[in-house]
Amino acid sequence: MAQITDIEKYHVTFLLREGAYFEVFKVEDSQRNRYLMKLINLAKLKTVQYYDTEKYRISEIEIMQSVSHANILKLVDAGETIVNGQRYAYWVSDFVPGELLADNRARKGIYTEYDMKVIITGILNALKYLHSQSEPIIYNGISPYGIILNLSSGAPVPVLSDFGHAQILNKEHRKCFTDGLSPFYLAPEMFKGLYSTRTDLYSVGALMYHLVYGIQPWQIDLNEVPLKEREMAILSARKVPLPVPNIRVFEVNEDLLSIMAKALSQDVDERFQSAEEFLKALFGEVSIDCLNYEKIDMDTDKKDTSEKAKLEKRGNGFDDVAGMEALKKRLQEEVIDLLRNPERYKKLRVQIPNGILLYGPPGCGKTFIGEKFAEELGCNYMYIHCSDVASPYIHGGQEKIAAIFQQARENAPTVLFLDELDAMLADRSRHHNVSESGEVNEFLTQLNNCGENGVIVIGATNNPTALDSAALRSGRFDIKVYVPAPSEEEREQIFHLVLDGIAAVDVDYKQLAKMTEGYVTKDVCILVNRAARITGRQDEEKIKMATLLNEIEKSKGELPSVPEAELRKHEMIRDQFESRKDSHRIGFKTSKEK
Ligand code: ADP
Repeated sequence: MAQITDIEKYHVTFLLREGAYFEVFKVEDSQRNRYLMKLINLAKLKTVQYYDTEKYRISEIEIMQSVSHANILKLVDAGETIVNGQRYAYWVSDFVPGELLADNRARKGIYTEYDMKVIITGILNALKYLHSQSEPIIYNGISPYGIILNLSSGAPVPVLSDFGHAQILNKEHRKCFTDGLSPFYLAPEMFKGLYSTRTDLYSVGALMYHLVYGIQPWQIDLNEVPLKEREMAILSARKVPLPVPNIRVFEVNEDLLSIMAKALSQDVDERFQSAEEFLKALFGEVSIDCLNYEKIDMDTDKKDTSEKAKLEKRGNGFDDVAGMEALKKRLQEEVIDLLRNPERYKKLRVQIPNGILLYGPPGCGKTFIGEKFAEELGCNYMYIHCSDVASPYIHGGQEKIAAIFQQARENAPTVLFLDELDAMLADRSRHHNVSESGEVNEFLTQLNNCGENGVIVIGATNNPTALDSAALRSGRFDIKVYVPAPSEEEREQIFHLVLDGIAAVDVDYKQLAKMTEGYVTKDVCILVNRAARITGRQDEEKIKMATLLNEIEKSKGELPSVPEAELRKHEMIRDQFESRKDSHRIGFKTSKEK
């Protein structure tokens, strides 16, 4: 246990996470060095753990102080303090530049096999280290909320950062408490308070599944299930083989499915026996033949293709989109009207645009408007993350691109949303890799006339200048629109959209819009979400102005998420991009070029 130090020297800059008895902050010292700090309310802790709080330090702080590994948070300080008469234990660690895996996951949805493997490998390496201590340490708390992804170098490095559930095996066997953990991540024996190296490995299997499918293994809706019956409901859902949903464009390969099914076996003896064995399987050094999984059809939206779908608005469509008036109008006039009345426009030889390019800073609604556009049009929607398709680590990119377009055509009309387009359409002059060039060629071929086949491609990118110039020529991305950070007026609309009905009468929308200068749309949503959570915790029904103002104040340093300088950079990119010759070129050379 470190010496009791002076907690006053740290200044809180941001609340990162909170639980029933703790809060995790970003903090700074007087030299503006950044750290993470966890503050643990010892009285509250007692209410969730069975054992003596004095021993708490043994299970969390002492464990963290005794370990040292690249995938484990490094403590630099720890101590105790009294705030308002309440006792707190705290630890301070190195700052990790990145984000919680939970936030990363919420943004990414589902991961490529490659990205998932990078994350899982780091976690297994940490567990291999913890499990091989002379007194093995069981982590017990694998969850996207306790893992920070260090994003400071190329590949994300996962860092185990929450040892709140960790225990030393064999020390004096305590029951493990599962408060705050997702039940879908728990091996069956953990419901009885039992833990071992193999329960940790079960949770890794659950995380793996969660990352590749975006849902949890044997996930069921627990909202309707009374608290007392949840354990039984979860365990009985697991009586069938591991369900493999068909929600990815590319199916997960059979080896990985076997690995997940083995890690998630309900029989402890059938699971991986060590992190090392798990790692070897992941790298193909040992083969696993576990077929205890079953492919299931989750695509409830699959429609009867024998009858051509009618283009009728479904959902709220553009009504959900605050601001963006000019873009909505263009999409309505240049695409929706044409697709709804093809005969009328055919006679006039008006062509349906093939592609729409949306570019600009992150978090401003490019993806959102794509999805809402498909709703407004009432057609099929496909979302593709381009790095899933075109990556130097994945072979067969060309075939995959062809397969995506084929799927889009078969279900036409389809809005095909391609996120991070630059990953697939990088300027060919910049790369030497033949297969990547092949992918660009394939993509451009597919893009030609796809509008005629009822496939509207929307590409989104933060950096349009990195795109291959051939993609920007006429007949490909015909509509190019910069999606900026919302103006003050638009922020007011966004606040209205997300707060109307859940905010108290005293909310001054104009003031909120004024006070959130520089916020991107996503920031406004995050802010309102935080205020809603606080309101819920205070057991109140409506969000008050004071809570919103307080959250704006508390979020300083974190929000706006896109610094002003970066917004300016995007505007410069826009100016540069709009002035490109090829962006306006329609086939004739200018006199200068001749
Ligand atoms: P981008 O694709 O530009 O990075 P997103 O489309 O992911 O940004 O936007 C982030 C979130 O902000 C969306 O999930 C949505 O909840 C919200 N959002 C964005 N634009 C709007 C808008 N115009 N109206 C309402 N909500 C929006």
